Amino acid sequence: MNISVIGAGLMGHGIALTFSLSGHQVKVQDPIPEALEALPARVMASLKVMGVGSDERSKVLQNISTEDSLSQAVKDSELIIEAAPEKLDLKKQIFKEIELSAPKTCLLASNTSVIQISKIMGDLKLKNRAVGTHWWNPPHLIPLVEVIKTEWTSEETMERMISILSKAGKTPVRVEKDVPGFIGNRLQSALWREAISLVENGICDAKSIDTVVKASFGRRLSVLGPMENADLIGTDLTLDIHNQVLFDLENLAGPSPYLRKLVDEKKLGMKSGVGFQEWTEGQIEETRVRLATHLINLEKILKK
Ligand code: NAD
Repeated sequence: MNISVIGAGLMGHGIALTFSLSGHQVKVQDPIPEALEALPARVMASLKVMGVGSDERSKVLQNISTEDSLSQAVKDSELIIEAAPEKLDLKKQIFKEIELSAPKTCLLASNTSVIQISKIMGDLKLKNRAVGTHWWNPPHLIPLVEVIKTEWTSEETMERMISILSKAGKTPVRVEKDVPGFIGNRLQSALWREAISLVENGICDAKSIDTVVKASFGRRLSVLGPMENADLIGTDLTLDIHNQVLFDLENLAGPSPYLRKLVDEKKLGMKSGVGFQEWTEGQIEETRVRLATHLINLEKILKK
């Protein structure tokens, strides 16, 4: 299958790698020459981390070509996945241009993190083929892809998209309504809101939040999801807990002032060396390697 990936960044390189690894021909488009130049080395490094042998690594790379022109990148495509920066106007413009050059039967997907797909693709003429595919970072190591249906997306589009992703080894999940944040990022945002509030209100520091999650429910989450856990403890106990605690949880309808202050002070996290905690270059690299190794090992254990 001919697949085009728009954007050669963090997500684009991993999405391209995933499809190439399962035998598809992938064109990656990016207007920034440095991003395209860096792509082969980036793909090779990720394949190495995944434990892919050198012969197969070369084959994967042969299946990927780069392109700076959007119209050239999409003209023979059967599936286009957009992974450009998270800016609504940019994404709308990209799909406007895509529609002028791509075949009419081509599936059109956006990998936006949280923007509603209907906002990005609402101006398309053929909207029945518009769909969201929300991959998770690192896209070649995290199995989930949320497949988001808009009010116009045809069932055939949903089924084709799910089938392509499944055959590429991903775990697609249907999101039946095009809500901001879809499923995963809504859940993650609910957790973040409470976590930031606990720190802001002096109940614990940021490190303690991470320890609590990593040393408790984080340990079992890949085996026991929250709904399974509610059934494990019983819906009656879940109700008793909610009766005692829900009234006290953070319910601010917007980002926390504490988070805004961090951003205003340019404490942007790993990229600036300080966020909720301080980060050295060594710690950043070590965290990346530990995460990738953990995800690969976890996959092996869960497949057993
Ligand atoms: P990134 O900054 O690493 O990559 C974006 C790439 O898009 C860059 O290479 C940039 O040169 C390129 N680009 C800029 N303008 C472009 C244009 N007009 N046309 C095509 N490409 C262009 O960003 P990323 O982390 O890969 O995120 C890409 C998308 O995926 C965003 O919508 C983001 O919200 C979403 N996403 C990110 C993550 C994550 O954890 N990083 C997870 C899921 C989804």
